[in-house]
Amino acid sequence: MTCVLAIDIGGTKLAAALVDEAGSVARSATRPTPRADVMSALAALVEEVTGDGPAPGAVGIGCAGPLDLEAGTVSPVNMPSWRGFPLREEVRKLTGLPVVLAGDAQCMALGEHWLGSGRGSAALLGIVVSTGIGGGLVIDGVPLLGRSGNAGHVGHMTVDPYGERCECGGRGCVERYSSGPNLTRWALANGWQAPDGEPADARALARDAAAGEEVAVAAFERGARALAAMIASTAAATEVSTVVIGGGVSAAGPVLFDPLARALDDIGGLPFVRAVQVKPTTLGVRAGLAGAAKLAWDYSRSAAA
Ligand SMILES: [Zn+2]
Repeated sequence: MTCVLAIDIGGTKLAAALVDEAGSVARSATRPTPRADVMSALAALVEEVTGDGPAPGAVGIGCAGPLDLEAGTVSPVNMPSWRGFPLREEVRKLTGLPVVLAGDAQCMALGEHWLGSGRGSAALLGIVVSTGIGGGLVIDGVPLLGRSGNAGHVGHMTVDPYGERCECGGRGCVERYSSGPNLTRWALANGWQAPDGEPADARALARDAAAGEEVAVAAFERGARALAAMIASTAAATEVSTVVIGGGVSAAGPVLFDPLARALDDIGGLPFVRAVQVKPTTLGVRAGLAGAAKLAWDYSRSAAA
């Protein structure tokens, strides 16, 4: 066995790659996620990547959640045609190979731990700050998936028990403060306007914050402080030493990371919490595929042992 097949499934894009044991990609391809019949698109993508390449020995899949690892099913929020979809079994039938499944943000964390910003860290939290906030934990080199596969949902950690109701049903979740749409929502409610002709999104807000626009700066300060509270709490509970932040909002750069560092310095107390290193992703969108490949490699090794 010289390679594994890694698959990353999101609401906007499907990606697949053949990855060797060192993490090098032999072949890869992507295509947009269709509204319906995602499985046919996935089958065509797998055929494109595996067609006349080396034969993979196992498949690792990172998929948008929620998922149920016991049943091997997925119900991605942004993919209404998949509800309780038996993804693991369908891909096993498609490829004839052993298949291992995890959440997309869990794969991002594992990928960053293997090949990215979190390389060599004893314990890592990966966070994807985008339309929502996802996360994954790698503890002692092993992904913490949880019984049903939903561990690491740090976007729905409460940072204010008296805060607003979140879409998940909880209250005061960090996602309510720090995701792209919620940063923008707060800024708009406080008088910020997108530049003429531009959509009022996190990208425009980040640009205005970088230019010193007061409300935009305040929106990122507020979002960063909520993230810092979540990171400090997670560090206190798990002793993560490294936090890697990816996702579209992380592209904001210093307007997010500078106030985040200041807030962590203010919020964190215990020395091991204060010692946490926060870094931007180095792998970017490739982190999920890297993590899916690592899952497959680890799975094949444990199956062979
Ligand atoms: Zn929530």
